Amino acid sequence: MNHVRVAVIGAGFSGLGTAIKLVQSGRDDFIVLERGPDLGGTWRVNTYPGCACDVPSQVYSFSFELNPDWSHTYARQPEIQAYLLRVAEKYDLRGRVVFNADVTDAQWTGSVWEIETTAGSWTADVLVAGTGGLSEPSFPDIPGLSSFQGTTFHSAEWDHSWTAAGERVGVIGTGSSAVQFVPHVQREAASLTLFQRTASWVLPRIDKEISDGHKSAYRRVPGLQRLVRALVYTRTEIPLIGFRYDRRILKLGEKMGRKLLEEQVSDPVLREKLRPHFDLGCKRVLLSNHYYPALAADNADVVTDRIVQVVSTGVVTEDAAGMRTTHELDALILGTGFTVQDPPIAHKISVDGATLAEHWKRSGMSALHGVAVSGFPNLFFLMGPNTALGHNSVLLMIEAQIDHVVKALDLLDRQGLTAIEPRADVQEAYDARIQRELQPTVWNSGGCNSWYLDEHGRNTVLWPTFTFTYMRQLRDFQASEYVLS
Ligand code: NAP
Repeated sequence: MNHVRVAVIGAGFSGLGTAIKLVQSGRDDFIVLERGPDLGGTWRVNTYPGCACDVPSQVYSFSFELNPDWSHTYARQPEIQAYLLRVAEKYDLRGRVVFNADVTDAQWTGSVWEIETTAGSWTADVLVAGTGGLSEPSFPDIPGLSSFQGTTFHSAEWDHSWTAAGERVGVIGTGSSAVQFVPHVQREAASLTLFQRTASWVLPRIDKEISDGHKSAYRRVPGLQRLVRALVYTRTEIPLIGFRYDRRILKLGEKMGRKLLEEQVSDPVLREKLRPHFDLGCKRVLLSNHYYPALAADNADVVTDRIVQVVSTGVVTEDAAGMRTTHELDALILGTGFTVQDPPIAHKISVDGATLAEHWKRSGMSALHGVAVSGFPNLFFLMGPNTALGHNSVLLMIEAQIDHVVKALDLLDRQGLTAIEPRADVQEAYDARIQRELQPTVWNSGGCNSWYLDEHGRNTVLWPTFTFTYMRQLRDFQASEYVLS
């Protein structure tokens, strides 16, 4: 079995960022295990029409690799993927990645991680999971789903051999993905039926093309793009004040959302269907100028009755009076999100025969700083528990985490140590603090059900406050928080 100092799982932003920082810290003895055939992670996989970032592009790049060429305020999927490929080329990372290497098992032997993949086996001193929270499509548990005879796929597995032209298309889901692809599908389809369980808040997407003049100024004027990034960063932090500290600020956003709904949907029945009934931000805020007009079009229908089953020809719903309707469809698209509360990688990582998933099932999903788990030595997470954001760019969090991991490696190397894991009491106190801080937030008490919350209503996904607080927290590596051996 080949041995490496560090094995990184995933070649998306997290994994590639880690590879760059490992090289820059003088480390050469590592591999990146990628289950897919190419680099890019979520931005390689999600290719549905309209796929774009809903976080401003100026903050959606590595801080050490700004991109002067972003085309718009909000970057599109193909250009984000192209950016990542460019960065990988610049840092010569491709050769360090083993493709089609799906990790099937990773066991701690007491001194190393034994890693089985579909492309071979390795041992590693340190395992870094850069698998992302939104990587495993979630398929709804609807009776008869597999009996559907038309075309069906998940939004993260878009079937590009299929075209909506002339088709009667059904869509399940009204989240960030659906809001982006629904207008494209509606334009082409014979009919669009949107099955909505919950109406979300939709705000205008203020998206401008970035002129050639601006792009060239970003290249020529030293510090200009960094200044713009700082301004965009600061502006993007502001909604957090509403989400966490003062909900009156959210009323301004809710007013904008209601105005958009009134302006774009004239049918009062449809308008009521689309009106959200929870505080802005409780679920991720959707940005679109085209979603409501698509749903108000003549060929579109929004169905709010409960889905009871899928049959070979379509979807069966039931209204409040128990009356059933079969919606005949040629295609059914599942915009039903990802398995965030049960990360598949946690089922594959084990210590003493017990998986991390079992451990988290017992004690709730948590990690010190979202990065390391007590009882799981030499394991680090990127985008681990309570480090996702409802308001700003997760790349800020990822970079802070990568630096933390590199500091941990530095400590091991400097002191000739072999293993590091969080102290159980420190992790417990940390988790209790995060959960306390989340209590007053709109994500916990804004009156909605979301994938941020686990089955006990515990928010295991989001960071509770400003991103600069997290970055500051991770900057000083506190060896006393860890058990070292
Ligand atoms: P999502 O937000 O989890 O939305 C899933 C949708 O499917 C929800 O509307 C949900 O309804 C519905 N659903 C699930 N199971 C259902 C069932 N059995 N019956 C009826 N409806 C069902 O997933 P997503 O839209 O893919 O977005 C996931 C996350 O990916 C986002 O929050 C965001 O963080 C990220 N994302 C980011 C971007 C970006 O631009 N950066 C773009 C796309 C996605 P309920 O609301 O009732 O649960």
